[in-house]
Amino acid sequence: MQYPVNRRDFVAAATAAGVALATHGAVAAAPAADKPAILGGKKTRTQAFPAWPIMDAREEKSMLTTLRSGRWFRGNGTNVSKFEQSFARLSGAKHCVATNGGTTALIAALGALEIGPGDEVIVTPYTFIATINSILMHYALPVLVDIDPETYQIDPAKIEAAITDRTAAILPVHIGGNVADLDTILTVARKHKLPVIEDCCQAHVAQWRHRSVGTWGTVGCFSFQVSKNLCSGEGGAVLTDDNELAERIYAFHNNCRARTVINYNFSYTPTRAGNFRMTEFQGGLLMAQMTRLEQQSRTREENAAYLTELLRQVPGIKPCKMYAGCTRNNYHLYMFRYDAQKWAGLPRDKFVAALEAEGIPSSGGYSPVPWSAFLQKALGTRAARRVFPASVIDAWAGRCAVPQHERLCAEGVWFSQTLLLGTRADMDQVAAAIRKLHAHAGELAHAAARA
Ligand SMILES: *Cc1c(COP(=O)(O)O)cnc(C)c1O
Repeated sequence: MQYPVNRRDFVAAATAAGVALATHGAVAAAPAADKPAILGGKKTRTQAFPAWPIMDAREEKSMLTTLRSGRWFRGNGTNVSKFEQSFARLSGAKHCVATNGGTTALIAALGALEIGPGDEVIVTPYTFIATINSILMHYALPVLVDIDPETYQIDPAKIEAAITDRTAAILPVHIGGNVADLDTILTVARKHKLPVIEDCCQAHVAQWRHRSVGTWGTVGCFSFQVSKNLCSGEGGAVLTDDNELAERIYAFHNNCRARTVINYNFSYTPTRAGNFRMTEFQGGLLMAQMTRLEQQSRTREENAAYLTELLRQVPGIKPCKMYAGCTRNNYHLYMFRYDAQKWAGLPRDKFVAALEAEGIPSSGGYSPVPWSAFLQKALGTRAARRVFPASVIDAWAGRCAVPQHERLCAEGVWFSQTLLLGTRADMDQVAAAIRKLHAHAGELAHAAARA
């Protein structure tokens, strides 16, 4: 991250000013320790935050046991089925089908719901691109609905206006582990008889009205990619309470083969399908990782609540809010909006760089995608044009304007979930670093403008 090289000049000037003031018997300039690290002051924090993923003898034992058993495939091992049962029980869902990723969990769910070419799927733009890709993989059209900047989630009041006779599903994302307004989404979905696919890839153990996310919609999709709060390198799962749909999802992820089919009995369920199976190594790792999930989630929740109290008091820092129905946030991300106006015009990215220099890693989060060009590429091919005439693609940008999303991309700041796994004293340090930067916002903005 680049920052003004004139740090040296600034320090020299500041020191000279301090000396001048001191000789006049006036207030001495702030000691270097109070200065932002990026302007030559002392770093607020030198230790690293907890490393991720977390593992111990539980994971080692599981990996070795699976390795030595030679049962590496769900067809001859039991880890994946055990994990499916555990994850379904944990979430309160009737069925769980494990997959090899969150993206493939979404693709399998959409496939089993028979979403295909020409269909429209309503989705939030403020998400990891995998959500959008899962729709495009079926040659369906992602219809973007703008977000609610207070919660970062899809704006529930704007969904109904986006529904057309081609709409085949609503795909809300519980971004950051915070929960979308499921009451309103489900009411609209019921009224228009549309399935709801919950993207819970960042929201394991998050709850809406004291019940797990992923059990409110028709299906819920999870990711266990290594950055997620429950992880196995790669991995995913689909939850559903619908018996028949569960079998279709299973067949979709297992090359048309039903759950009951014995390994070398090649009988098929007629369906579109692929191989999205989870390996026994992943299933075993997840069982071990699950033993820590509840405690880790509690730590994150407690630290996040405490941090929010501290950050609320800093001008221009607006922690992300939750809807009343969100009874548990999983805090895959700790998100807040940064208002440069209250920071002497210091740009968001310069704030992130200054915070990084203090020893507090953060990120500006998702950047806006050049959606029109993206869709032109994805759906402008020879084959896709048979389904989507140029007029549909051309009209798309007008239908899917998302100004609040773009603003959030410019104002958002994230801490990763691992920062929340530290102690309360760590949270004090995070807030202290931000307060220190705010006290020097004018100098930081000045230095940034000269860069
Ligand atoms: C991680 C993620 C996915 C994709 O999951 P993978 O396991 O990486 O394929 C989808 N949606 C969201 C919101 C995610 O964060």
